[in-house]
Amino acid sequence: MAVREGGEMKEYTEKRIKMIYNQDMNPCPVCGSWHFRAQTPIQLELDAGDIENPRKAIGKFVAAHKDGPPMLKGPCFFMCFDCGHKGPAVDCSGRTSEEVGQDPVVWKEMKRLWNEQAPNVAPKA
Ligand SMILES: [Zn+2]
Repeated sequence: MAVREGGEMKEYTEKRIKMIYNQDMNPCPVCGSWHFRAQTPIQLELDAGDIENPRKAIGKFVAAHKDGPPMLKGPCFFMCFDCGHKGPAVDCSGRTSEEVGQDPVVWKEMKRLWNEQAPNVAPKA
């Protein structure tokens, strides 16, 4: 699936995902998509309108960061951007997004849990 991001088209393929994560990754177990990304939920109250309006969501994100790295709301997980499926979560409550972002253990565990999910569909090309 091609997605416009920062002005350039990006192709979410098995090859690209392996490049990003530097290891073999499984596609979304629900829809087979390679368009998934790590989520580290911070104290943001995003509603449906924000999802449709990325500018608003980014505004809230910036506001949450203005007093330093925000505390995480809890779990970190991979989420599929095609079907909304969320992978198994690693609990990161009470830590900042910056701390967790630099923690190779959390990162490794998130990837392991995602890859452990039993696929229901064949991967998308
Ligand atoms: Zn999916």
